[in-house]
Amino acid sequence: MTELSPAAQEVLLNYGNKSRGPGMCISLCQAWMDGDEPCNFACDACRIAAISKPERSGLAAALRAAADQVVPEERKPSADSDYHLMNWTKALDTYYQRKQTRAEILAIAAELEGSNG
Ligand SMILES: [Zn+2]
Repeated sequence: MTELSPAAQEVLLNYGNKSRGPGMCISLCQAWMDGDEPCNFACDACRIAAISKPERSGLAAALRAAADQVVPEERKPSADSDYHLMNWTKALDTYYQRKQTRAEILAIAAELEGSNG
């Protein structure tokens, strides 16, 4: 399995916990190897491994849509416009924070899309 960041793992786990019905997992996880029975999604590794490529793409698309809604791409506030210096500094600050948040969400989306189900 691809090494995923904690954030991406958390997204997949939450999705897996909600969407996975009862069933037998087929991953050769540590729990199975130790206990010689499938763990039946008792372990995080199996819950994450069971999420398919299309499901991961769907999650990535949802994350991108959320980023577009909450922290859409914005133009950098320009110094020469209607800002007083204080306000401009504050606007720049906000701009960079939002840009950073957006980048982090999109990075999770890219990671999910690049990972194997
Ligand atoms: Zn397992």
